[in-house]
Amino acid sequence: FGSERKNSSSINIDIESQWQPFHQAVHAFDKVKWKASPILNGKPTPILAAERVCVTAPYDREEVVGELTYATSSQVDTAMASAHDAYANWSQCSASERANYLLLLADKLELHQAELVALCHREAGKTIHDAIDEIREAVDFCRYYAEQAQTNFNKPKRITSFDGVDQEMTYQGRGVFVCISPWNFPLAIFLGQVCAALVAGNTVVAKPAEQTSLIACRAIELLLLTGIPQGVIQLVTGLGREIGHQLTSDERVAGVAFTGSTPTAQLINRTLMARDSAPVPFIAETGGQNAMIVDSTALPEQVVRDVLRSAFASAGQRCSALRVLFIQQDIAERVITLIKGAMAELKVGDPQLHATDVGPVIDLAAKQKLLTHIESLKNRARLICQTPLPESCASGDFVPPTAIEIQHIDLLEQEHFGPILHIVRFKASEIDQVVNQINQTGFGLTMGIHSRNERTYSEIASRAKVGNCYINRDQVGAVVGVQPFGGRGLSGTGPKAGGPHYLYRFMQSTIAQINV
Ligand code: GLU
Repeated sequence: FGSERKNSSSINIDIESQWQPFHQAVHAFDKVKWKASPILNGKPTPILAAERVCVTAPYDREEVVGELTYATSSQVDTAMASAHDAYANWSQCSASERANYLLLLADKLELHQAELVALCHREAGKTIHDAIDEIREAVDFCRYYAEQAQTNFNKPKRITSFDGVDQEMTYQGRGVFVCISPWNFPLAIFLGQVCAALVAGNTVVAKPAEQTSLIACRAIELLLLTGIPQGVIQLVTGLGREIGHQLTSDERVAGVAFTGSTPTAQLINRTLMARDSAPVPFIAETGGQNAMIVDSTALPEQVVRDVLRSAFASAGQRCSALRVLFIQQDIAERVITLIKGAMAELKVGDPQLHATDVGPVIDLAAKQKLLTHIESLKNRARLICQTPLPESCASGDFVPPTAIEIQHIDLLEQEHFGPILHIVRFKASEIDQVVNQINQTGFGLTMGIHSRNERTYSEIASRAKVGNCYINRDQVGAVVGVQPFGGRGLSGTGPKAGGPHYLYRFMQSTIAQINV
């Protein structure tokens, strides 16, 4: 596209001279206690003792990270009313002005990188590697959407017709966007949604996942420091089941961006449809039953490296993560043996250590759900390997990375959002059926293919009904502006985040004749 923008290069912690000072800077936040509460019109609301929720670290439930309070119903209403009022002025700002706030925010995120990494680590249990990537991705979203807005929406687009009558196409925001974001990318997805909605000309009521309210609150404080008009961004903390309905049934809502589970997306969709007001866009990025297909021409060592990263990085808590590995019978034994060996080497534990591969899952409820699933498969499947948990994991919410062989993908009725890898063997003659079975799950987020046969991988890729397909590599870690990310079917509505079509969905357009 001839773009000037570069993705953030951040730091490389494998270089000792970069790691040491950075590590110390992150450690400086070891004892900090953060606070979160609704931020209405630029002001954090007070935390009342009776309503205080204590936040602890997923890797050690004895460690207090901060405290927060949830929004009351009347605060949600204030947020909505204020965002609605702020739209009149915000819609008069040029795309360039709006983009400028995103650029300022990107600089602030980089400046506060150590604190944000510490927060991602202590509130969300992210490993140091994941936390750095998280900040980098948030920065990239800000700069990418700023560039998209400046390039496409600063001036009307002239459309010249064959009869000499010219038209101009202008794009505007739609009104108040509700942005509901997940805990697994508490900064990147949270800010990705908010920044896209804002730069497209909307005002925003943001509702982060309750598990990561501290990070969201800090991000909004930084956004407000850019000097952005205070009414355009309202933050409401809280539980989806308590305030979600109020947020999405409000007649003032002009659009919703949501990332989270498929059932929640279906619920929001029904709520939006039940309103009497004008239909509005709903952008949903949801779950997956992501598969990787490995045929007998694949390179086993490379497969193992990419399988481990796809299934266990971020403790499997990415919606892109590999859930079902299909291996062709002929090389299955060899690959499984290598997977076992590699899993035995995985380091599970304190996410702040440079050497840690797999940190905790987000909370006790997630841990229990995952362990119940593993238990429920024991009679119907073959446990291949489970990385033992060191003693240091006892006070946190850890789930051992687990590989389990099952007969058929049908055994999995839902997504299991954690470090569990299911393995299915197939015969060479069954490869078409395998693709059909994967498509029949109805999910369509990511797929990985490992094969050195061009015809095989091209054919699978062309038949796979997924949003992001990766060949001979891992299948996580889509890069902003390079691999726009998002699925289809039960996995989401599109358009893809970090891609050239995303902002358009947050906008409306007018075409007007400019001469007669
Ligand atoms: N974009 C992320 C990736 O490619 C996943 C986003 C998510 O988990 O929602 O790994």
